[in-house]
Amino acid sequence: MSYEPRFSLGAADVHRPYVADEDRYSALPYRQVGRSGLYLPAISLGLWWNFGDNVPFDRQRRMIRHAFDRGIIHFDLANNYGPPHGSAETNFGRLLREDLTPYRDELIISSKAGWDMWPGPHGDLGSRKHLLASLDASLTRMGLDYVDIFYSHRVDPVTPIEETIGALDAVVKAGKAQYVGISSYSAERTAVAVAVARSLGTPLVIHQPSYSILNRWAEDGLTGVLQQEGLGAIAFTPLAQGLLTDKYLVDGIGRREQPRRVPEKLTEEAIAALRSLNVIAQERGQTLAQMAIQWTLRDPVVASALIGASSVAQLDENIAAVNGPAFDVEELERIDAVSSAVDVDLWAVSSRL
Ligand code: NAP
Repeated sequence: MSYEPRFSLGAADVHRPYVADEDRYSALPYRQVGRSGLYLPAISLGLWWNFGDNVPFDRQRRMIRHAFDRGIIHFDLANNYGPPHGSAETNFGRLLREDLTPYRDELIISSKAGWDMWPGPHGDLGSRKHLLASLDASLTRMGLDYVDIFYSHRVDPVTPIEETIGALDAVVKAGKAQYVGISSYSAERTAVAVAVARSLGTPLVIHQPSYSILNRWAEDGLTGVLQQEGLGAIAFTPLAQGLLTDKYLVDGIGRREQPRRVPEKLTEEAIAALRSLNVIAQERGQTLAQMAIQWTLRDPVVASALIGASSVAQLDENIAAVNGPAFDVEELERIDAVSSAVDVDLWAVSSRL
């Protein structure tokens, strides 16, 4: 599907009142989340990095406007995204207020609670106290009455799952979230969470696991449970935080910019695997980033690939992933063979509970 942006947002444009591109629904497919009524764009944008107070606000505005103009209707946040914690929600709230208010009904906005947010025993994890207080604070920061999806961000090994899922049920019943989800729960715990949610009538429709060519834990039982129970997945870090792009392939290893979040993963072995993957991508007529994104979407249980990006150019490159040719069996086997030696699963501890 070809798409020409109506205009390119330059420095001056970000100060003009925003009117969304009329063709915004022509660039991306929208995929059903499990057996729910929720649809997500094949590519969603996460605000974990690049939307904190350390990034100029105009750059953030350019990114969000451009994303929405290209059909990215889903923006993924959490209480602690920044830095500092909370600032991504505050900045996004300002963008909503100044640019996106007329489009609120088109947007799918998510937030989460579970990672460290404030001191004391209720500042993280999955207690009712933490989840309810955190969502209220997130709504205040974003200036919203409700989020579209609210997640339990990680497993709490101590709090009974009935309490955690009961808190998700409470926010739906209070009108503060339309759907709820869980993130990084194991296959076994997901099955229990679904059973509890079903007993309460809670719309638990989505799971957010880490998933990429270099991180396949979700295939070991989780996607099967989701498929069986009618939930969908949204795959976070499909680019392994930038490893699965040409970012680290250009120069020699000594001169290359080190990945800021996964430096220990950038071994010679990893680079060799990335180079081989890059060759496969080139043969397919796409970039490594595009192939990596498309790969996460080959199973329909994955409704969306949840990317990060620091520029409009990255966004455009990544969105074009949906135009790539379908994978054939031989390509998939070659990808498996060259990537099997590298595992980039930074969430392994919380994913295995
Ligand atoms: P990612 O898509 O794997 O990596 C994104 C980074 O890769 C970008 O910030 C950019 O790095 C680089 N990049 C992206 N496109 C590129 C391109 N075309 N060419 C070159 N480099 C490119 O995802 P992520 O940022 O790690 O995470 C994405 C989202 O997942 C987060 O924002 C968050 O919403 C969600 N998430 C959820 C959890 C959870 O526990 N549920 C955990 C982590 C993340 P630079 O910024 O350095 O340019």
